[in-house]
Amino acid sequence: MANYREMWETLGMDLETHDQLCAVLPTAFGDTYLSQENRPAGMDFWDMVVADIHGIRPAELIEAQKKGQKVFGTFCVYVPDEVVIAANGIVTGLCGGSQFWVPSGEEVLPKSTCALIKASVGARLGRTCPFFRIADMYVGETTCDGKKKAWEILGKDVPMHIMDMPQMKREKDIAKWAEEIKDFAAVVEEFTGNKITPEKLNDAIKLINEKRKALARVYEARKADKLPISGKDVLLISQIAFFDDPARCAQMCNALADELEQRIADGVSVFKEGTKRIMITGTPMAIPNWKLHHIIETSGAAVVCEETCTGTRYFEKLVDDSKETLDDQYRAIAERYMGINCACFTPNTGRVDDILRLAKEYKVDGVIDVNLKFCCLYDTEGYTVEEALKANGIPVLGIETDYTDSDAEQLRTRIEAFVEMLG
Ligand code: SF4
Ligand code: SF4
Repeated sequence: MANYREMWETLGMDLETHDQLCAVLPTAFGDTYLSQENRPAGMDFWDMVVADIHGIRPAELIEAQKKGQKVFGTFCVYVPDEVVIAANGIVTGLCGGSQFWVPSGEEVLPKSTCALIKASVGARLGRTCPFFRIADMYVGETTCDGKKKAWEILGKDVPMHIMDMPQMKREKDIAKWAEEIKDFAAVVEEFTGNKITPEKLNDAIKLINEKRKALARVYEARKADKLPISGKDVLLISQIAFFDDPARCAQMCNALADELEQRIADGVSVFKEGTKRIMITGTPMAIPNWKLHHIIETSGAAVVCEETCTGTRYFEKLVDDSKETLDDQYRAIAERYMGINCACFTPNTGRVDDILRLAKEYKVDGVIDVNLKFCCLYDTEGYTVEEALKANGIPVLGIETDYTDSDAEQLRTRIEAFVEMLG
């Protein structure tokens, strides 16, 4: 990593503890990523981002702040980036994906909270992540109970706006979400000092749609019989998409998609013929949570799709960009976001439909339903998901894990047995 110590010091970070993270990350990344063979050349960009993950993008954000832009930190794919961008703000994802941050989170949260929440709170309170220091305002949502309570704790340390998520998807719930988005827009306007106009919002809608389309192109390449890219690499792209500049993200993804399409035409694959194709469904995997993908892809299988918030839920479906008034645009945004199928909704039959559809599209041999320990929502919904998969003759393995490595060998044994069972 280049030397960004002065910047980190100015951000009030705990440098001594942060040094420990900087010391282990390159080895973890090298072992997980750089050990792969025949990777697409386009992955160089994402390797470079990771190599200076706490330097390059944070420095860009600070430069933007000096020019008057505000940075909003978000934790959920339901929070609409479009609204922030229309007010000349910047969005950065803040979900914590490392065990490194969990102990700081456990100082204020029950141990029986999911690792994602503990790591997110720990990264802020432990002062060991520049993104959590840079964000001017955090935007929470009322998706799950653990998050709702975590916002109260984080709200004592940083300006916080919370969006009230409906828990059902009736017409009145979509209308309510459109109202909530409108209220959020008013908060963003006041915080940034910039007015949102229909023209600016439409530009933002188009920008984020382009990013979604570019991510979709990368995913499309994974439907090929000969896989031109590993699941691990695509996971990394999705994770970084949450905090990169959206136009650059689209540009880099499109360039990579060109290369992947050429690889498909040339019959280039990163896996040997007959490698079993796995889809992952369940809880999100925030950076640098690469654990499950790494185990699967070093156990004789390939991950071809993720029905998660760091997968298809992030980019599928576009916002209708034909609306001309702010109210119509907020409604169009609400409709697109309410099309995401998170386990926090009841009923949530759309998620099962998505899983069955994706299993066909990506020609999967089996599904791994992963639950982050202490996530009651996805754990409970696992019953319905696994029942539907079995009813459709799709082999499924349900697992529960966290950010530690303590269960890695046990998981490997179970996954190897599952892959062998696939034939
Ligand atoms: S799993 Fe649900 S709460 Fe978590 S990021 Fe996705 S939509 Fe939001
Ligand atoms: S994984 Fe589950 S418990 Fe954790 S933040 Fe997401 S929805 Fe909440």
